[in-house]
Amino acid sequence: MTIAFITHHDCSLHRVAIHHPEVPERLSAVDDRMLASGISMLLSHYDAPLVTGEQLLRVHTADYVDYVESSAPGPDDMVCLDEGDTVMTEHTLQAARRAAGAAVLGVDLVMSGEVSSAFCSVRPPGHHAERARAMGFCIFNNVAVGAAHALAQYGLERVAVVDFDVHHGNGTEDIFRDEPRVLFCSTFQHPFYPHTGEAVDSPHLVNVPLTRGVTGKEFRDAVQGHWLPALEAFRPQLIMISAGFDGHREEDMADFRLVEDDYAWVTRELKAVAKRHGEGRLVSCLEGGYALSALGRSACVHLDALIGH
Ligand SMILES: [Zn+2]
Repeated sequence: MTIAFITHHDCSLHRVAIHHPEVPERLSAVDDRMLASGISMLLSHYDAPLVTGEQLLRVHTADYVDYVESSAPGPDDMVCLDEGDTVMTEHTLQAARRAAGAAVLGVDLVMSGEVSSAFCSVRPPGHHAERARAMGFCIFNNVAVGAAHALAQYGLERVAVVDFDVHHGNGTEDIFRDEPRVLFCSTFQHPFYPHTGEAVDSPHLVNVPLTRGVTGKEFRDAVQGHWLPALEAFRPQLIMISAGFDGHREEDMADFRLVEDDYAWVTRELKAVAKRHGEGRLVSCLEGGYALSALGRSACVHLDALIGH
């Protein structure tokens, strides 16, 4: 089956500041590795469309979307949306609209059967963006926009969002906390930024806090012990992935010790769940991953596992 690779040049125009880790070179690191490995030729390539207002308003408040749009600065200017992490410059709004639009296109492609799964190689990332708040480099919650599109446009009743970024997906949890049609599963370093996710008060939130120094074995045990039983019981018609690769052992950003093979393994496990319950439908959105070489390698094994090698 065909795998979609969705990105857009606009996502590389968003540059926030010198010494900020969330850089355009992250996307070229994925591209370069894809080309070098030969995987690029096996994928169907798509340009991300712009997200619409209607699609954003399924997960963000109108006041928040207005705030982001009216904050967009002109050339040589910048605006901070939170305490300093999440910055908008001239091209940020357009990049954020493409990043969220990619998730929507991914859902459209898998729902139409044109492809079996999709990877959105986009930035800014999304999983820290709450319903009414930008946070942690994230402006619009891309994966949530995609999941909400699947519910609203296609009438799906069970969408799983799984998040293996090293940081807790607080934004996704905030958006879907009261939405029983969405199962949210997250593993994350704890205690750590954004200092959320510990207390689980809902049957459709599966938060698995893990201590620093976690190895692949412990990560796999957490997935097998917590995520997979919850996913089997939920029987998702579609799986969305918040694919953050910042738990890699080469990352300075955090303290997990995952390697490429762990990302390949979790991808295969999720693909198997998608096959059993959702006709293989899976849409993955890039979140974190800041050590460029490790990011490129990890994203490629993720894609390779989606392809089925
Ligand atoms: Zn992260």
